[in-house]
Amino acid sequence: MNDSTIESMLRRAPVPCPPAALLYRLHADVRVSTAKTNVRESSFLHLLQRWWPVISCLVIGVTMASGKFTAIAKLRHENESLRAPTAQIDNLRQKNAEYQQLTATVSEVKRLEANYSELQALKADAARLRLAIAEGEKVKADNQRLLSELRLPPDALGQGLFSKAKSARCINTLKRIVVAARIWATENNKDVFPSSFIAMKDELSTPKILVCSSDEGKIAAPDWEGFTEANNSYEMLSPGVSELEPQVVYVRCRVHGHVAMVDGSVQASKRSVSVVQKDGQWILLEQNEN
Ligand SMILES: [Zn+2]
Repeated sequence: MNDSTIESMLRRAPVPCPPAALLYRLHADVRVSTAKTNVRESSFLHLLQRWWPVISCLVIGVTMASGKFTAIAKLRHENESLRAPTAQIDNLRQKNAEYQQLTATVSEVKRLEANYSELQALKADAARLRLAIAEGEKVKADNQRLLSELRLPPDALGQGLFSKAKSARCINTLKRIVVAARIWATENNKDVFPSSFIAMKDELSTPKILVCSSDEGKIAAPDWEGFTEANNSYEMLSPGVSELEPQVVYVRCRVHGHVAMVDGSVQASKRSVSVVQKDGQWILLEQNEN
């Protein structure tokens, strides 16, 4: 018997009728399955209740671990935050060191500039000194040349200047004498000059001025009581002369020959001018005059 025969026999077989309680049994089976499902759910809840402490511990542990991780992360973040200022401090320290080095460099440059300025000033002073020394040497050479040309001893020039100073001092003394004489005449309501130096001692104040500085043979009197001609370098040529005779010579220095005129002027001695007595009056006379 092959398969085809079997198949044809089965096709010809009567259709079986299902049992009457089949549907009920099927429904029962279905409820049993549902009950099995509830049993499964109840066993899951049982397991959950059984393992709940463990699960709770696990959850708590996980939660705590998560909190620790969060705290560690926060600490790491704070640590990073703290490291940043530290790095900034190191950077600032390095910049400060560079600034200090730059400041020292600037100070050194300023010191060098000051030294350079002082050096330039010293160079300028040295140049001026060299120029002054050169000028001094030139003046010295000119003086030596002039002295050799004049055939004078080295101190002759100084002696000449000293002599001129004494002459000028003598002229000044003559001016004081003639002014004192005019004051004496005014104070005494007279039109004549005093007839002696002692007569106008108040106006002259001191007899010391009556010794010419070039008159080495005379010594000044300390006061008028001891005053004599030995203490006098000046000769009064016209004692008691009238103020109306301005051309008359009143006083003359015996050493220099300078004269004080009645008009108040003083004439220095000249080779071309002589003091002569004419018609009873001492006057100045040019040598070419008759
Ligand atoms: Zn004199």
